[in-house]
Amino acid sequence: SPAPLTLLGLGAMGTALARTWLAAGHPLTVWNRTPSRAEPLAGHGARIAPDAAEAVAAADLVVLCLLDDASVEEALTGVDLTGKDLVNLTTGTPSQARARAAWAQERGARFLDGGIMAIPPMIGVPESGGYVFYSGSSAAFEAHRRTLAVPTGTRYVGEDAGFAALQDVALLSAMTGMFAGFSHAFALVRKEDIDLKEFAPLLVEWLVAMAPATHSTAEQLTSGDYTTGVASNLAMMVAGNTTMLRTAEEQGVSSELLLPFMNLMERRLKDGHGDESTTGVIELLSR
Ligand code: NDP
Repeated sequence: SPAPLTLLGLGAMGTALARTWLAAGHPLTVWNRTPSRAEPLAGHGARIAPDAAEAVAAADLVVLCLLDDASVEEALTGVDLTGKDLVNLTTGTPSQARARAAWAQERGARFLDGGIMAIPPMIGVPESGGYVFYSGSSAAFEAHRRTLAVPTGTRYVGEDAGFAALQDVALLSAMTGMFAGFSHAFALVRKEDIDLKEFAPLLVEWLVAMAPATHSTAEQLTSGDYTTGVASNLAMMVAGNTTMLRTAEEQGVSSELLLPFMNLMERRLKDGHGDESTTGVIELLSR
């Protein structure tokens, strides 16, 4: 039968998670700092705890989905965590996750940190492709993997509690670069007589075609050889950058989204690496 659990935090994400566990028949105890946000869930069978301590006492598995690490600290101060399995889905940095893991262990709890790669409408929709990165206690993950898999997919990435947050933030950082790239592309074409809704699928197709460059970057970083064979090299790409910058100027578009990466490419070229791919830029980023 579905295992009981407790959930602290009923914001947009916490509420979406709660609904899937209730729909799957899990006995669920919930707590939210602002009680009115918990009330709608009572009609769906949730037990509403009057405070965080009672909520934690109600089940061995305690899931947290609060705003930030400071709210976790505030919610759990003075609460008995002995023998509990804490699963923290609150977004934070890798070092916050590691410190929280040590903090939980000192209080007699096993700890898993989670990084949610989904937005609330993707929760409870398996075909959305959403999932949660988990890291920390593998024993806790194994004990609860079926319950944790109810709202969305699960990916366990290691005993180091910081790895889930690190890989979550790495993916979000890559997404930020992609958003910057297509924002610039739209800025270039949008004032012309070009149908943006016809242009958008061309952008998607191109980004998807270029995405596998990620694999060769991983191979080059692993082998230490950054030179390219058939693929375009840095000398050629830096020359191509001039055309991109001139086109931006012709179209009256700022180059501020492009320049940080282009400047790094140029620095690497000047260091004598014209026969490499862009992988060497990563060397310039390491402090
Ligand atoms: P919301 O802003 O909707 O909810 C925040 C929750 O945190 C509320 O339950 C709020 O309680 C609670 N909270 C804030 N401060 C405190 C505090 N000091 N003590 C106790 N409780 C507190 O955020 P979401 O639900 O969207 O996000 C929750 C977590 O999930 C975040 O870490 C977020 O980064 C992560 N996440 C969210 C995604 C999304 O698309 N929404 C995607 C991926 C991750 P109250 O109701 O009383 O204010």
